[in-house]
Amino acid sequence: MLQEIKGLHHVTSMASDARVNNAFFTGTLGLRRVKTTVNFDAPDVYHLYYGDEIGTPGSVMTYFPFPNMGPARHGAGEVGTTVFSVPKGALGYWRGRLTAAGVAGLSEGSSFGGKRLDFDGPDGDRFAVLEVEDDRRAPWTGGGVPEDVAIRGFHSVSLRLRDGGATEELLGFMNYERVEQAGAVTRMAVKGGGVAGTIDIETLPGAPAAQLGAGSVHHVAFAVEDRAAQLAVRKAIAETGYQVTPVIDRDYFWAIYFRTPGGVLFEVATNEPGFTRDEDCAHLGEALKLPSRYEHARDRIEAHLEPLAA
Ligand code: ZN
Repeated sequence: MLQEIKGLHHVTSMASDARVNNAFFTGTLGLRRVKTTVNFDAPDVYHLYYGDEIGTPGSVMTYFPFPNMGPARHGAGEVGTTVFSVPKGALGYWRGRLTAAGVAGLSEGSSFGGKRLDFDGPDGDRFAVLEVEDDRRAPWTGGGVPEDVAIRGFHSVSLRLRDGGATEELLGFMNYERVEQAGAVTRMAVKGGGVAGTIDIETLPGAPAAQLGAGSVHHVAFAVEDRAAQLAVRKAIAETGYQVTPVIDRDYFWAIYFRTPGGVLFEVATNEPGFTRDEDCAHLGEALKLPSRYEHARDRIEAHLEPLAA
């Protein structure tokens, strides 16, 4: 059992337009852009990180905006909905704010006793805000959303799978346990509690396979404290037969990746060193940060990327 895993670290998705994406997450949702960098494997494309004041693990939504990327086809084998935690009583505020912003797909409901408001991101990405009692995480309030209703970070993601059995078994090995079941949805929670500690498995036996595009989640990352914990997790996952990548330096965390039985790409990321590694907290996300191997090409990369509003 991998007690090193503490819940979600970040969720990374694909978008079709960097400026629209930035406006939605910093303006409409009121998150802070905590890092402006490039896709380390495709440096002509941004990698934008949004979260709380310092990008605390469990609050970080990240995007690869590929200009003019075609839309995703949603289906089985992908992350379904990414759910943000908001305080009790906040849903009315969010209904008004999202409606005023022209956000599509608004739908109010409940899951496992919690009130939630589902909505679409700019590329049809699926999101929800869920009222959660006693989430003590401090929200970012510099984005214009009042403190008493602002997003605290992630509550959960759902995984849409034709057959959830093998993934449930894997999550069990990764320190999660089944806590509730409702219809086709199995709720798993990381042992010992903790924020951003929930995963819902939605079983959709007849669904077509999802195809990656704008509005798709590319991968979901789980948090471990440090590199030693990550190495222990890597060894254990590899020993169960998964093909796990070597440890990759992502500048703000170290990462390993492996493909899960249902088709979703998982990452395990370290909480160290974090987004204040190369910028003061007061100016996080303002400057374009490049990994050192691309610094020589900064002029060309900057000329290619469309400027973002602050
Ligand atoms: Zn990642």
